[in-house]
Amino acid sequence: MSRDGSLKAFKEAQDLIPGGVNSPVRAFSSVGGTPLFIKEGNGAYLTDVDGNKYIDYVQSWGPLLFGHRDESIEKAVIEAVKHGLSFGAPTQAESDLAKLVISMFDSIEKIRFVSSGTEAVMSAIRLARGYTNRDDIVKFTGCYHGHSDSLLVQAGSGAATFGNPSSPGVPADFTKHTLLAEYNNIESVKKCFADSKNIACVIIEPIAGNMGLVPADKEFLHELRKLCDENGTLLIFDEVMSGFRASVNGAESITGVKPDIVTLGKVIGGGMPVGAFGARREIMAKLSPEGPVYQAGTLSGNPVAMAAGYASLSKLKNNAKIISVLNERAERLMNGMQKEASLCGIPMQIDTRGSMFGFFFNEKPVKNFADACNSDAELFAKFHAGMINEGFYFACSLYETGFISTAITDEMIEDTIRASARVFKAITNG
Ligand SMILES: *Cc1c(COP(=O)(O)O)cnc(C)c1O
Repeated sequence: MSRDGSLKAFKEAQDLIPGGVNSPVRAFSSVGGTPLFIKEGNGAYLTDVDGNKYIDYVQSWGPLLFGHRDESIEKAVIEAVKHGLSFGAPTQAESDLAKLVISMFDSIEKIRFVSSGTEAVMSAIRLARGYTNRDDIVKFTGCYHGHSDSLLVQAGSGAATFGNPSSPGVPADFTKHTLLAEYNNIESVKKCFADSKNIACVIIEPIAGNMGLVPADKEFLHELRKLCDENGTLLIFDEVMSGFRASVNGAESITGVKPDIVTLGKVIGGGMPVGAFGARREIMAKLSPEGPVYQAGTLSGNPVAMAAGYASLSKLKNNAKIISVLNERAERLMNGMQKEASLCGIPMQIDTRGSMFGFFFNEKPVKNFADACNSDAELFAKFHAGMINEGFYFACSLYETGFISTAITDEMIEDTIRASARVFKAITNG
């Protein structure tokens, strides 16, 4: 399999764009490789510029629930384009998508659209602060909420503590209001509430997908809800990744825990740049121009993006059983790969939620970021490179979640398991 075209394109891009990519994880640096430059996608497949074909388990990092070039989404986009790309004035398409999302999420009575998950979360945090008149926020180590200043805070230790910025360029003053807790550890959250009486919100990925797939325990989420209620703190579910992937009706429908604010992205745009945040009326009423909390966007609610989102979500809503069908495939894939790994003496932890799947080369179950970090990164890099050579495109980092689209068939799953067996064997035979 030649990669000359990708290598050449990457070389040129590195001269023009920092690291050759417009989002760091795409660079393949954590698996020690170089990125494939993609020419096109179709259904379950990606084709790179050298003409190699891969079954795609990345799906643009989540958005493409129906695979590449889904007919109805493509048609909706082309139809919308014919009416103009953007107006900066309201369109019916925004209310149509709003109505659809509100019908799917119990906790959302009103919604605002933005252009990315980062923007959705950043705005939701501002809204929570404006609503509560408080400054501090609690986030969990290993959860990713986009790259805005106050959320770009990593784990120092597992202990709850005021955060340090994890990127140069973020003033410590900005992040001193960000308290860190450990995922699935309620004591660490209690410590945050003991340290601060000024907590506006707790933000969590209820089904974490950015430290690999690590769902929160139900019990933990229930206790989190209780703590927030006792302290007059808002609970934000960041479902930018899990929304419309883990279930049709949000993590709330799986866990029984009701958030105050939900943030959405990825699938909501069907492959176009869309993010959103929503809550009950009383909270959303604080948002400008109804209320004093400012938030805006030139391309927010873009009609072409709304059309893609509407086509995608209406298709999901009308075929809600898709999620369980995709989950069966995700489970078959994970169980099959785990079996092949164990035949080679490789310990593998697996999990799925709807169309999301995750695995760690780890002897112990993974409950938080520290556990995830104890996984075998070298083995993952070998696995990733081996699967690419076999024609299977997995996320190029062990801290990412995999995605099944409706274009991926049972036969493709079986092919993937057989390929993984060859790769595991090659790895263990040195
Ligand atoms: C992807 C992601 C974001 C950021 O969304 P962008 O569209 O990349 O800005 C935020 N939160 C979660 C949970 C995500 O998975």
